[in-house]
Amino acid sequence: MNRRDFLKCVGCGTAATGVVQSPFWPQVLGGVQNAWAFDVADKLSAVEARHYRKLEGGGIECGICPRHCRVTDLERGFCGTRENRGDVYYTLVYNLPCSLNIDPIEKKPFFHFFPGTTALSLATAGCNVDCKFCQNWEISQARPEQTTNYEFTAQDAVETCRARNVPTIAYTYSEPVIFYEYMFDMAEFGHKHGIKSVMITGGYIDEQPLRELIPQLDAIKVDLKAIRESYYRDVVRGELKPVLDRLIQMREAGIWLEIVNLVVPTLNDTDDEFTKLARWVKTFLGVDVPVHFSRFHPQYLLTELPITPQKTLERAYQICRAEGLEYVYLGNLPAHKAESTYCPGCGAMVIERRGYSTRVVGLAGGKCSSCRHDIPGRFA
Ligand code: SF4
Repeated sequence: MNRRDFLKCVGCGTAATGVVQSPFWPQVLGGVQNAWAFDVADKLSAVEARHYRKLEGGGIECGICPRHCRVTDLERGFCGTRENRGDVYYTLVYNLPCSLNIDPIEKKPFFHFFPGTTALSLATAGCNVDCKFCQNWEISQARPEQTTNYEFTAQDAVETCRARNVPTIAYTYSEPVIFYEYMFDMAEFGHKHGIKSVMITGGYIDEQPLRELIPQLDAIKVDLKAIRESYYRDVVRGELKPVLDRLIQMREAGIWLEIVNLVVPTLNDTDDEFTKLARWVKTFLGVDVPVHFSRFHPQYLLTELPITPQKTLERAYQICRAEGLEYVYLGNLPAHKAESTYCPGCGAMVIERRGYSTRVVGLAGGKCSSCRHDIPGRFA
């Protein structure tokens, strides 16, 4: 099968609405199964980066994320994807994803964003933090020279979406903030051709780049990894405060927002932390922002910790519901009742989920079919 045949393989496509039980391609780091029809790149890109300034006396300062890396000639910033060449800053990963798949939108997870649809999901190498629990560390902590990269343009993305009836592009797996220019231009091009874009991020981005990016996107999912600065310092190698500020900025901008908290045994799993998280969300974002608690599996630098017990996740669920959050979900617990969406007005189930099988059962025009209560989100 050549590249055009791959794009035209509509028989492999998936339904855009309704029950989703499709044979989704597996997510494989490096994207070999799914991107094989695209050309493997034999060199990195050299596209001028945005949001940087030249320093007096030489060097540049990157303004994409709060690290504000100061980079001398022929050096790179923390994320490893941006390089100073003669005091011009370049992104090395433009059009060069290393992972490329079609996933259920629920896998991101988005539960209130066109449920039951799919997303063309892509990532480049690199990240601006270094979470000890990262499930995609093989690409997030790699330099782009260490991954197999594919030449995949915005035009390719739009053609793939059209050929496979996929309505959305998702920038995901690693950290899209570090491939900001690629994401921005693809999202803008997608919008011109009727394709939506969503960002799955840690939210560690500066205010101005985010301000410019939001109009190109349709939804954002933020991993709020904990509600404690010391956790961000010791486990994430990042900062909490800028993430909280950006969450407020996203909410004020009106873009659809969902939050995920990965619950790691002994590190961020106390009643006090769940309560603080719930109260912060309630106070600064609102009770109708979905919060997903996700189950940790031992990996990367935290192989000595156990899987998160189901009871711990259920405790998080109960605390957040008691604090008034209306849409609390438990992830990586297939067929658990807390995977489904219930109307806060009458308690009726409006969207049923079992793993990645999704059925809209009581929702019409963004309202509960039983009591007409508004269900927030973006629905067909
Ligand atoms: S995007 Fe990369 S180079 Fe820029 S400040 Fe963040 S980590 Fe540093």
